[in-house]
Amino acid sequence: MYVVSIDQDQCTGCGECTKTCPADLLSLNGQGKAEVSGEPTDCMGCESCVSVCPSGAAKVQEC
Ligand code: SF4
Ligand code: SF4
Repeated sequence: MYVVSIDQDQCTGCGECTKTCPADLLSLNGQGKAEVSGEPTDCMGCESCVSVCPSGAAKVQEC
């Protein structure tokens, strides 16, 4: 099982992760930052969000 998290301090709000997630788990919130909008554990662990994130804010852990 995998779990995704977004570091709000590191996120610049570029939105790239929201476009690439195949599970549609990520969206931009009212502060213009990415957040997990579904169940964090629905993450498939593909690490696409990690690859496209220019600031290292997207993190995926196996649990
Ligand atoms: S690792 Fe893949 S499935 Fe998980 S949040 Fe990132 S893009 Fe989505
Ligand atoms: S790709 Fe990274 S910096 Fe861009 S919105 Fe997603 S978490 Fe934030």
